[in-house]
Formats: sequence, C-alpha cells, structure tokens
Amino acid sequence: MTYQVYTRPAEHHFAVNPNETILEAALRQGLTLPYGCRGGSCGACVGKLAEGNIRYLTDPEKLKGLDRIDVKNGEILLCQAIPESDLIIDVHEPERIADIDIKKLPCRVVQLGKLADDVMLLGVKIPEKERFAFLAGQYVDFLLRDGQRRSFSLANPPQENGGMLEFHVRLIPNGIFTAHVFNQMKEKDILRIEGPFGQFYLREQSERPILMLAGGTGFAPIKSVIEYSLKQNIQRPIHFYWGARAQKDLYLESLAESWVKNHSHIQYTPVLSEPLEEDHWQGRTGFVHEAILEDYADLSEYDVYACGPPIMVNSAKQTFIEKRGLDAEHFFADSFDFAPPKS
Ligand SMILES: Cc1cc2nc3c(=O)[nH]c(=O)nc-3n(C[C@H](O)[C@H](O)[C@H](O)COP(=O)(O)OP(=O)(O)OC[C@H]3O[C@@H](n4cnc5c(N)ncnc54)[C@H](O)[C@@H]3O)c2cc1C
Repeated sequence: MTYQVYTRPAEHHFAVNPNETILEAALRQGLTLPYGCRGGSCGACVGKLAEGNIRYLTDPEKLKGLDRIDVKNGEILLCQAIPESDLIIDVHEPERIADIDIKKLPCRVVQLGKLADDVMLLGVKIPEKERFAFLAGQYVDFLLRDGQRRSFSLANPPQENGGMLEFHVRLIPNGIFTAHVFNQMKEKDILRIEGPFGQFYLREQSERPILMLAGGTGFAPIKSVIEYSLKQNIQRPIHFYWGARAQKDLYLESLAESWVKNHSHIQYTPVLSEPLEEDHWQGRTGFVHEAILEDYADLSEYDVYACGPPIMVNSAKQTFIEKRGLDAEHFFADSFDFAPPKS
C-alpha cells in the first residue's frame, strides 16, 4: 500500500511506495531530506516521527545509526524507515541542491593506478552520449552484480563532457568490491554506477572561512571540492588538515603542498597518528580533530567540512560543537561507513 508522508516545518507531501524507504521516495520525487551513507550507519538522515508507524528495512539490531540518534525521543532513520501508515515527520530539510538527476549509467574503466600500497586511483568514463551532472564532493554507488552497492566519493570536480570520473579506493581486507578493484579489475572493464548522492558539497553562498579535515581516502571529496573552488576562483580562507597513520598514507601530499604554494588563501597541516621510524616525522602527531582543537579556540564563525572514517567524523562533530562553539548547521560531512551487510 502507498502511504503519504508530510514533513514539518517545510510542509512537503510525498507518496511512499510499498517497501520503499522514506528517503528513497523523497529522492525519487526530487525532495531534499538530510542523509549521508544511506546504509543506516552514519545517523545523518534523522527525523522525528510525530505521527504514524514505521518498520525498518534492516534488522534494527544491525543499524549502527540508531545509536547515533535519540530513539527514545521518537527519532528515526529516514534511509531505513518504511511507513506502515501515513506519517508526519519533523525534519530539518537542507537547502535544495540544484536540480540534478540521479542516474544509473554504465561506465568504462580508463585508469587504474596505485596511489599507495592500499589506495587505488580508479578512473572511469561514461558513454559519450550521456551526461552526468554532480556537485564537487558528492559520491556515487557502484552497483554489484548481486544487487549490493558500494559508495565512493568523486575525487575530481565536474569535468567537461567526456571527462574522467576519478575515485580513490582504499583496499578493505576481504572487501568484495575493493579487493576486486585491486586484484581483478582491468582497463576497459564495464561497471555500473548510480548517482550522484550526498550533501557534502561546497556552500558557495557562505562567506565564512573554511576548515577541512580528511582521514585517509576522505581526501578524495576534499580534493574535488578544493579543485572546484580553485576553478571558480573562490578566495575564502581554507585550512585543510589531513590525518593518516604514516607518511605513506598521505598519498597525494605533493598536490596538497602545491595548493599552498600557489594559493595564499590555502593552508595545509598533515597530522600522523602512527608515524614510522623511517618517516623521521617532525610534524604534528595525534588525531586530526585534536590538532584542530589545539589550533582553534573558537569555531563559531567557521564552516567545517569533514570526510573519512566514522570515528573521525563523529569525534570532530561532537567536540567542535561542544568545546569550540561550532554551529551544527555549519558542519558538513560524509562518514565513510562500510556498506550494510547483505540482507
Ligand atoms: C558516502 C560514502 C563515501 C565513501 N567514499 C569512499 C571513498 O571515496 N574511498 C574509499 O576508499 N571508501 C569510501 N567509502 C567507504 C566504502 O564505501 C566502504 O569501505 C565499502 O564498504 C568498501 O566495499 P568492499 O566491498 O570492498 O568492502 P565490504 O565488503 O563492504 O567490507 C567488508 C566487511 O569487512 C568488515 N571490515 C573490514 N575491514 C574492517 C575494519 N577495518 N573495521 C571494521 N570492519 C571491517 C566490515 O564488516 C565490512 O562490512 C565511502 C562510504 C560512504 C558511505
């Protein structure tokens, strides 16, 4: 049965098909609800159920995101909730992203090259007759043959027609997709993607200075956003912190250094949590969000962009808001959660 969802305070109505999640239905109908990983992990797609009943697509015991929201107070995960009646939901609807269609497209692998032992640059091209619009910082899902999907951020900004889409893929031990990328994938292989997704993109109308933090391959969407901002000649101060274990994990450090060299409004601070002896590391050590806490006493006037492991994103969000006065509305993040287990 199809149910109706009514959102407050924005007062939008939309229909949800049987077995469809609230978020899927909203995206299908061009509405913007908050979301991140779409796998029930990150907790970004929170809304408060004011009226009606829902069930979850996945066993709630397996939904990490439920630990990140206030379930007792009626909060639900919109990416996993399926209506069982008409609903009223209190939800903060983010500003509308430019009208960008979400598409499913085939693409051809045109580049595969190691950036580090466990990071692969994957370049793909979509068919020439197709168009694929996205905002710098967004991500796509690679569609696997068995119906599973894996999310990866675009590492370059939108290109001229026919340009390559770049991804930085970190190898996950026993990971289905990433092991395939490292061990079997070849140039000219055909893949399928769906996207673009996500709300990690540059808020261009803001005039605030920008702090960015990346953990590991969280560098990919940050690179996309910074390269886009340079193309647009945006001159807002950007201080970028890149956290990694050892120096070899800062896999495109010369690029970050070249931004600083060529653009006086960009600063770059690498932070290593486990530098190796051979690194002879003289720079900052510890966790990347802690380096920012040390350097900035007040974040109330900043826009913060964070991408990488969930623990980094969550620690940054919590401490920057609680200890440094960051406005939660000015924290933008993609948490690189693992794909949900196959149901
Ligand atoms: C919005 C978004 C954007 C992303 N962008 C990127 C990106 O640009 N680059 C990138 O490298 N990744 C990115 N990721 C993460 C990536 O999608 C996941 O790592 C993905 O699950 C890898 O797929 P896989 O098939 O190789 O591994 P899976 O088959 O999904 O993983 C195997 C399973 O192994 C377990 N596992 C393996 N290693 C660990 C570990 N260290 N800790 C805990 N459990 C473990 C997990 O249970 C996991 O489910 C992104 C994720 C999201 C949500």
